[in-house]
Amino acid sequence: MTEPLGPTDSDPRDSVRTRVLVVGAGIMGSGVAAQCALAGYPVTLVDVNEEFARRGRESAARALDHAVRKGQVGPGDREAAMARLDVGIGLRRADSAQIIVEAAPENLELKRKVFAEIEEAAGADALLASNTSSLPITAIGERLKEPSRLVGVHFFNPVLQMALVEIIPGHTTRPEVVERAREFAVSLGKTVVLSRDTPGFVTTRALAVLVNEAAWMLYEGVATQEDIDTAYKLGFHHPMGPFELVDLVGIDTALAILDVLWDGFHDPRYRACPLFRTMVSAHLLGRKTGEGFYRYPATGSTA
Ligand code: NAD
Repeated sequence: MTEPLGPTDSDPRDSVRTRVLVVGAGIMGSGVAAQCALAGYPVTLVDVNEEFARRGRESAARALDHAVRKGQVGPGDREAAMARLDVGIGLRRADSAQIIVEAAPENLELKRKVFAEIEEAAGADALLASNTSSLPITAIGERLKEPSRLVGVHFFNPVLQMALVEIIPGHTTRPEVVERAREFAVSLGKTVVLSRDTPGFVTTRALAVLVNEAAWMLYEGVATQEDIDTAYKLGFHHPMGPFELVDLVGIDTALAILDVLWDGFHDPRYRACPLFRTMVSAHLLGRKTGEGFYRYPATGSTA
């Protein structure tokens, strides 16, 4: 029997009246939106154009369908979650959202710009959360009028299946903001770990080395990608091989993360394997474009 993915009994708040805005309807934004809707939050998911927003909704539906097939979510709960999920463009409904989760691409300047716009549009008491997987929260909040409102709330992919949320207070984040972020994650049924605000936090720093080393081994001809994946899975009991994982994460995102770690630490451990850069130039980004280290018959699959 698998664990249910919906709200937990310990949810202390009336989540029905708390509206969530998710900014960025890609791999993570669609998953976060699905998870919040499943937990009872009314959710608005926005992107830069209608087409991306629509695809985000489809992706959220696929993630919920997958959970129904696994017996984790009932069909009725799936329907109710989709009915709570509204999509759009711009910062639609920002002024009525109490929780705003940014899931735009892993780019510091872009995230700074997005948060400047969010701060303009949002109500004074809204929680401002970034789903960045590596960028320091303090740097993202550098140009905000009130950086003490911003906190890192790092979900994992696929959001509905992954139990962890990493919370990262920025240098000036207020303790009550951290506590609200923790309550929010717990209300989604997640287990929280707290990390200091250093590049890559705990999880991404660990993962980056593991995936980068696999790419360097492939680059040096140590083994094939299939054998490296099998070695990691059977040798270390990992559920996925590093190339399967990086295809799921997105090769552009993985490269952006390694570059953040390199910029932050200047440690050769984080020197990105050139294979990643070549693949990004060739637009082979993994599952989201239908091809990365492996080929995928249908693009945008979340299963
Ligand atoms: P993605 O490329 O799949 O999606 C990003 C979306 O943001 C795109 O649809 C894009 O059009 C949209 N976007 C760009 N500019 C925007 C703007 N100004 N306003 C609204 N939307 C905008 O990326 P992703 O993999 O979902 O990653 C999003 C964030 O989550 C990144 O910070 C990434 O590091 C982090 N993250 C990713 C993973 C993963 O496995 N992919 C896991 C954890 C965290």
